[in-house]
Amino acid sequence: MSSKSILISGAGIGGLCAAWWLSRSGYAVTIVEQAATLREDGYMLSVSGAGLRVIEEMGLLPQLRQAGLSMGRHLYLDARGRTIMQFNHGKLMAQLAHETVLRTDLADILYQSLNDAVSLQLGARISSLQQDEQGVDVQLNNGHAQRFDYVIGADGFRSATRRMVFGPDVGFCQHLGMQAAAYWIDANTQLEDDMVAIAEPRRMSMYYRLGDKGITALHIWKSDQATPVAQDSRKDQLSAQFAGSHARVTDAIASLPSTCSIYMDALMQVHLPDWSRGRVVLLGDAAHCLSLANGQGASMALAGACCLAQELAADSSPAALQRYQQSMRPGVHALQIRGRKAASLYLPDSAWSFRMRNWIMSAMPKSMLLNYFLKSAQEEIHLAEHIQLRQLSKQAA
Ligand SMILES: Cc1cc2nc3c(=O)[nH]c(=O)nc-3n(C[C@H](O)[C@H](O)[C@H](O)COP(=O)(O)OP(=O)(O)OC[C@H]3O[C@@H](n4cnc5c(N)ncnc54)[C@H](O)[C@@H]3O)c2cc1C
Repeated sequence: MSSKSILISGAGIGGLCAAWWLSRSGYAVTIVEQAATLREDGYMLSVSGAGLRVIEEMGLLPQLRQAGLSMGRHLYLDARGRTIMQFNHGKLMAQLAHETVLRTDLADILYQSLNDAVSLQLGARISSLQQDEQGVDVQLNNGHAQRFDYVIGADGFRSATRRMVFGPDVGFCQHLGMQAAAYWIDANTQLEDDMVAIAEPRRMSMYYRLGDKGITALHIWKSDQATPVAQDSRKDQLSAQFAGSHARVTDAIASLPSTCSIYMDALMQVHLPDWSRGRVVLLGDAAHCLSLANGQGASMALAGACCLAQELAADSSPAALQRYQQSMRPGVHALQIRGRKAASLYLPDSAWSFRMRNWIMSAMPKSMLLNYFLKSAQEEIHLAEHIQLRQLSKQAA
């Protein structure tokens, strides 16, 4: 092999970002993405902390800002339509450096920034791999076979690369006891505020107006279901989970066309003692999924991609993979602890604890409540800032 070659499995946020950095360090990069096109599903996510610094260093901040979604007022109702809380989320969050964007927009911005040293194969995935001390022999599902210096598994929290190299998910994936679903609804639906939530014991439905992009529904409910639900069963599953909720929730679910694509998965964290084995290394959700319980999944994938590429640029030996893990792990670990705590408080279990929480929130001075939200978001971003990246500007030049 002349120049060093890398195969990245997964053209998601981490995979695309790693391709950008690695190709600029002289690596010949191939990405395989199992979807037939770059994934068009996915809703909004936030980029802040180390992830935002990486985007800035890549010179992509103007594009990210242009794609940014502005959030105004948030309204929380109970199942009978009574107000629990209302506040200007946009004004509150404006105090923190972050951008909220559609996942598809972020993926597209990263994809558009790639150069010719990156080859993307859609509809392709790894069928098998075998490694020795010098490289990894990979067989793809399209019949193509090639030897690479390294393989990066950036194929999301249900990573097939992880299963191939580290073994079954059991033992690595920690269920947070919740399930989430998201889908687009009719953009003409009337919403009182930019986000309207119907909060109930054990379940919550949120409707977000995303500027001129449309309205998205996000449901979260208590459930220990770990295996993915088939696309054609998701509407039925939602109807069952939200039976008896506010009419706007049940009506919106009932009116979903049977062809509607619904995102649905468990909230799980991934914990692995090591993120690499030999010359195969995991990145982003595949290595350390935080789940929706943290707002840092995309930022950690971006930071991890940059960190891994920087280490491989500094020294192309497998020791680079260990240094990447050492730099990332303390921040990721702290975020995972925080995410588990947040998840345990997110959906009160009983009608009594739900009413108690609402009562406390209504009795608290609003300024104190908002200050609590702000501090909490600040703390999360602060933890994510702890990722130790090498001097960024030198690398991006
Ligand atoms: C469809 C989708 C929608 C999402 N929506 C949201 C959202 O609305 N809000 C939010 O906060 N987070 C969302 N996420 C998660 C968020 O994108 C990730 O937490 C974060 O960006 C971490 O990025 P990642 O690169 O590790 O994984 P991802 O961005 O999840 O990317 C993984 C990529 O790997 C591909 N892949 C999976 N298996 C294979 C395989 N065997 N071979 C090749 N490619 C494979 C997937 O198609 C995907 O493109 C979504 C993820 C996906 C895949």
